[in-house]
Amino acid sequence: MSSERGTLYTIAAPSGAGKTSLVKALIESKTFVQVSVSHTTRPARPGEVDGVNYHFVSHEQFQTMLEAGQFIESAEVFGNHYGTCQLWVEETLAQGIDVILEIDWQGAQQVKKLLPATRSIFILPPSKEALLERLTGRGQDEASVIAGRMDEAISEMSHYVEADYLVVNECFDTALKDLRCIIRAQRLFAEPQHARQAALIGELLSS
Ligand code: GDP
Ligand code: ADP
Ligand code: 5GP
Repeated sequence: MSSERGTLYTIAAPSGAGKTSLVKALIESKTFVQVSVSHTTRPARPGEVDGVNYHFVSHEQFQTMLEAGQFIESAEVFGNHYGTCQLWVEETLAQGIDVILEIDWQGAQQVKKLLPATRSIFILPPSKEALLERLTGRGQDEASVIAGRMDEAISEMSHYVEADYLVVNECFDTALKDLRCIIRAQRLFAEPQHARQAALIGELLSS
């Protein structure tokens, strides 16, 4: 528990770039970072668990939540609706825990506009060939879905320029270290450090 507010991060990438695997590895090793579980109208993939990977909801349930203002952001991606629950994000940040939103570029834009202190990260694959291999290798989408995601990849990737940080996921461990480094550097920002280190600074400067 901390009296400080956590930092909000958005992570965007074309489908298959590795963001879900990277974020999973990141939160396994970091206690003070959590990932928001989005609501989606997309059907669950084999192995996906409701409430863990996503909250899987019907179009009607999604629409009701949207109209009630329960999403901090929402977007339509590949014909499905996705949204981030405002209450969970706010409550988690208020506990001093950093929150990661694994969302598309449209959502990242909405969040940045609403909360300008948000740090945005973009993940690129090392090549188009690698992206196709990863989408195919994941073995969870049909060929037509993969083709659609590859078509969308170029327009999605063109939004790299809007992000604060850019990470290339060639070597998984290097990309993971890059993400850890971004979070660590953010925690060393002078202003919150002044508050955290007040006792030490007071002692060091006393005559
Ligand atoms: P993946 O790209 O293979 O991880 O495919 P997903 O089906 O998990 O995600 C589809 C798209 O929806 C991606 O671009 C995600 O970034 C985006 N997305 C996931 N959750 C959210 C959300 O809560 N809000 C928004 N705006 N986009 C989301
Ligand atoms: P996204 O969430 O961006 O769609 P995933 O995390 O599902 O991507 O990754 C897509 C596939 O690529 C997965 O099978 C994952 O294991 C694999 N993958 C992720 N990063 C790398 C990497 N650096 N090298 C090789 N394969 C990777
Ligand atoms: P998938 O259906 O493969 O899990 O995700 C497809 C895309 O939707 C990914 O780019 C993912 O980041 C994005 N996405 C997932 N959840 C959300 C969300 O809550 N909001 C937004 N804007 N995008 C999301």
